Amino acid sequence: MKYNCTRNNNEQVSFKEAVIKGLTEQGGLYIPEQIPTLPSSFFEQMETMDDQAIAFQVLAPFVADSLNDEQLKQVIAETLVFPTPVVPVTENVGALELFHGPTQAFKDVGARFMSRCLSHFYDGKEVIILVATSGDTGSAVASGFYNVPGVTVKILFPKGKVSPYQEYQMTSLGKNIHVIEVDGTFDDCQALVKQAFNDEKLRKELAISSANSINIARLLPQMLYYFFAYKQLKTQLGNKKLVVSVPCGNLGNLTAGIIAKKMGLPIERFVAANNANDTFYNYLNTGEYHPKSSVLTYSNAMDVGAPSNFERLQYIYNDNLEAIKKDISSFRYDDDATLQEIEDCKNKNNYLLDPHGAVGKLALEASLNANEYGVFLETAHPQKFSEVIQKVIPNYESEAVDLSNCSKESMNNNYKELLQQLTVKAE
Ligand SMILES: *Cc1c(COP(=O)(O)O)cnc(C)c1O
Repeated sequence: MKYNCTRNNNEQVSFKEAVIKGLTEQGGLYIPEQIPTLPSSFFEQMETMDDQAIAFQVLAPFVADSLNDEQLKQVIAETLVFPTPVVPVTENVGALELFHGPTQAFKDVGARFMSRCLSHFYDGKEVIILVATSGDTGSAVASGFYNVPGVTVKILFPKGKVSPYQEYQMTSLGKNIHVIEVDGTFDDCQALVKQAFNDEKLRKELAISSANSINIARLLPQMLYYFFAYKQLKTQLGNKKLVVSVPCGNLGNLTAGIIAKKMGLPIERFVAANNANDTFYNYLNTGEYHPKSSVLTYSNAMDVGAPSNFERLQYIYNDNLEAIKKDISSFRYDDDATLQEIEDCKNKNNYLLDPHGAVGKLALEASLNANEYGVFLETAHPQKFSEVIQKVIPNYESEAVDLSNCSKESMNNNYKELLQQLTVKAE
């Protein structure tokens, strides 16, 4: 499979190059040149196959030019080390729980897959993975790349602006994971990272790469949990059609789901759940795309005003709004509605939602018909957002974290200091 650029049809690269480069020369994103379809026999037999075998069939066409069968099987085995169960919440709605991984958010799947791919591409030259994080990405990347040979990770986070729990997940590992607290905002961290990627002198000296969510190696494995959800539900669906609601930020999860559908997975349609950051909701309802600055909400991993994967969705649908609307509808909910839903769902269904899942469930139920079964993605464990949960469930206990044995570096918002940090050797 070759990968095209969303902005220029002449640039084509292998899977390996797409993973290592991250962004295309034109500043666009890599996208598979075509989406292969799986034979109907695959879907007929799915419930008899184990998850690793399903993952191999789904992913092999996308990576075959860069990983051999044995390598892919190994990457899959090291990625899929936790379950993704569909848990019934109401009679016709289930939660697809994606938070059973090491850092309790779905990003564990993509981060683990990408890190294992990179270690197979390792040719003796140390790679530095440089990321800026507002929380979840940093912890998933830290955990996913921990102890991976040939890779040193440098994570920049804004001082005092991630939760103690997220800081613990990043800073408790050590070894090849270097965490740097920046006296600044998330935007400052991101600007420093961008400056490093644009620094030609630096890039001649060091092999730096990015692990942010635009990397195709983080996107592709996210298709798998849609397949696993269908496998679990297949026999109980009967004549009902499957609808999936996705709490959206950069639209990576939604794009992965759409690719899975195009491969033939029987998902009738998707619901894109937005919080107050409603750029995509507005696009579907007005046909106009106006990216804007993000606003802070309780479901903060969805606080994205200019969703990066929008470009991939448009490419897949040839810019055809009507075709997108056939597959995806969108709803948006504010913080008050989110809190109310967390409280109601606990009282009525005895199921504890996290703020992202709450937005997903509201959007799903607004759109579900009688002949459909709905699944919403539970993208993070409620524990990660205990201070939000406690607003409506005061006796909800949060896990205490002990940061005393954690290690991090500190720096000012200054590019020279970043250059010094990048040359600190791994242990
Ligand atoms: C990253 C994240 C999202 C948003 O996912 P996208 O793929 O960026 O749309 C939603 N919920 C949680 C908990 C996340 O960490």
